[in-house]
Amino acid sequence: MSSQSASPAIKRKLRIALAGNPNSGKTTLFNALTGAHHKVGNYPGVTVEKREGVRTRGDKQYHFIDLPGIYSLTAYSIDEVVARDFILDEKPDLIVDVLDSTNLERNLYLCLQFQELGIPVIGALNMSDEADAKGLRIDGKNLSATLGIPMIKTVGPRGAGTEDLLDCIDRTVAGQVSGRVISYRDEIEPKLEALQKLIAADAGFAAKYPDRWLAVKLLEKDANAYRRLEEHPGAAAIKASAKDAIMWIEKHFGRDAEIVISEQRYGYIRGAVQESLQIMKVPDFSFTEAVDRIIMNRFLSLPVFVLVLWAVFQITFFAGQYPAVWLENFFGLVSSALLAAMPAGMLRSLIVDGVIGGVGGVFSFVPLIVILFFLLSILEDVGYMSRAAFATDKLLHSFGLHGQSIFPMMLGFGCSVPAVMASRTLKSPRDRIITVLITPLMSCGAKLPVHILLAAVFFPECAVNAVMAIYAAGVILALVSAFILKKTILRGDPTPFVMELPPYRAPTLRGVLWHVWEKTYQYIKKAGTVILASSILIWAITTFPSYEAPVEERASLAAAFMAEHPGAETAEAEAWAETAASRTALEQSFAGRLGKFIEPVFRPLGFDWKIAVASVTGFAAKEVVVSTLGILYRVGAEEDAESAGLREALRADAHMTPLVALSLMLFTLIIPPCFAALAAIRAELGGKWLTFEIGFLLVLGWAVCFIVYQLGSLAGF
Ligand code: GDP
Ligand code: MG
Repeated sequence: MSSQSASPAIKRKLRIALAGNPNSGKTTLFNALTGAHHKVGNYPGVTVEKREGVRTRGDKQYHFIDLPGIYSLTAYSIDEVVARDFILDEKPDLIVDVLDSTNLERNLYLCLQFQELGIPVIGALNMSDEADAKGLRIDGKNLSATLGIPMIKTVGPRGAGTEDLLDCIDRTVAGQVSGRVISYRDEIEPKLEALQKLIAADAGFAAKYPDRWLAVKLLEKDANAYRRLEEHPGAAAIKASAKDAIMWIEKHFGRDAEIVISEQRYGYIRGAVQESLQIMKVPDFSFTEAVDRIIMNRFLSLPVFVLVLWAVFQITFFAGQYPAVWLENFFGLVSSALLAAMPAGMLRSLIVDGVIGGVGGVFSFVPLIVILFFLLSILEDVGYMSRAAFATDKLLHSFGLHGQSIFPMMLGFGCSVPAVMASRTLKSPRDRIITVLITPLMSCGAKLPVHILLAAVFFPECAVNAVMAIYAAGVILALVSAFILKKTILRGDPTPFVMELPPYRAPTLRGVLWHVWEKTYQYIKKAGTVILASSILIWAITTFPSYEAPVEERASLAAAFMAEHPGAETAEAEAWAETAASRTALEQSFAGRLGKFIEPVFRPLGFDWKIAVASVTGFAAKEVVVSTLGILYRVGAEEDAESAGLREALRADAHMTPLVALSLMLFTLIIPPCFAALAAIRAELGGKWLTFEIGFLLVLGWAVCFIVYQLGSLAGF
């Protein structure tokens, strides 16, 4: 029936916020309710923006809003502000507070604040499967009755309880809200009520915020509540009254007013939970604790972290190499077939040299990218990210970074765009700026093809180690940059680190596969758009203006070859002359002229004009370095060499030495990231920091490559 329910049948649209503590399963439940596929991960801070999704059932439309996690309505970091402001300013029709049933007391703390807001609240007792396994028997009915908040048991990944939840939403909206709120101690209530009256008397203001909630917040000295108060004419009187009340409470209890209030809340919650929670005896063994005893051991945690990362990349390279070779051979076959089937000319050159030479090279790396994202995704879902943050906290601190900076940094191995956004969970603006600025130094998936190609050709004995060394170089440069930034323009102390470790959870296959598919699709789409377009452009500037060596020139070249190689065949000499002529043609092309023009800047880094052109094109997207090399080394190569592939061509180039290759890898690693990542940085920090970042990375990239190449040359490599 719902399939044919067109819009006129829909009587009512409901806006329902999914809110709750970080990592309580909000996004999982959101996906189950709306059929969306947003990223979930087993660590706090995965959702940093609010997202909307719709569920239609019968004649009702439910607009769900998935919010970032918060512990209280006092927000510190940007993602928390998003959640708080949405609830306070946009006033959803209803809040579904997603509660982690294994940690009820802490989770209910936020729930009671929602209740005070006067917006109808429903508690989703999520993770009820984990609670069962831990022997926690929760009497939902009793808890609902005690708190006056409807409670529904759910299990997010299985979608269990979602229909009950929708039924409960219908009932609640139909108007059976208890209207109950927590009552504070007899000494506090009169103060609250007086304050409430004052607030309610200010007509404009009372319409905006519930008086009860605001009165409590003022007693808690909530800075944001005071700021909201400022906008109103009656602010001074309300503030004075609040100040009196706070002074009285602090004198009477001998403690800060905010502590008195939160003690009251916890006391109330403890009472309610005690009546509704039965703790069964279960065998005293926790998988999470047992594993953590080894993995999170004080001495082992950091080595384990390094080992985990090392394993991720080893598996990626090992498992990825076979399909990569198959794909490479496949594209080789396709271009040979096209060479045989099509008449020589511009079109054939465009397709074989430009499109296949460029895009094909990048496509060969799809399997590697898939594997890398698969493994990173599993790490996220299992719950290792928070452990990584703990393991590296001390190390990061000594570089002036925050333990939480490890999330953006590790996500940066995949793609800088989500990584840069993940920095929003950092509370101190300074830490956040530094983290955003250094994240692009983490070698992303798009840089991987460049590293692998060059390492395989120039460091064949130790290709994997060479790539790992580049990754390590990125991490070290990021740490050193953070240190320098912290000591110069972004001075300040790192904020203390508080985070909880989520239990290990089996990743949901569906979630991981969806995430990997999404990333792979983006990579393929990039190959089909940005990389295809730049391949065609690069093919064009390497082919035009077309240059045909005059017959006399070829003859004289061939003659010179014969003179140098007495006894050579004439055919051999002619072929050699052909190659030499096409090399001249390439140098005469726009790309050649451009390359020669910029070459002086890149000479000190060991780059000749071809490599200079390739490295510059990496600004569009890092994979383009590979496609550009593919085209530059194909256009102008003699026919026979074409099937031998880019690797052979690179190896045959006398100018490309292992040292130059190393320099090019480092350059690709360090210089500013692709346009998409730059746009993300701009969105997070603004244009001024973006300009700084571009300048900083350009100077750093040039300087590092200069030092490496010059020292390497001196040492005789
Ligand atoms: P959010 O931060 O609140 O959005 O939480 P997520 O939706 O990202 O989920 C956090 C982790 O908890 C993920 O690993 C989920 O697979 C897992 N999870 C969510 N709901 C449940 C549940 O009901 N039971 C269990 N066992 N795991 C859950
Ligand atoms: Mg989430």
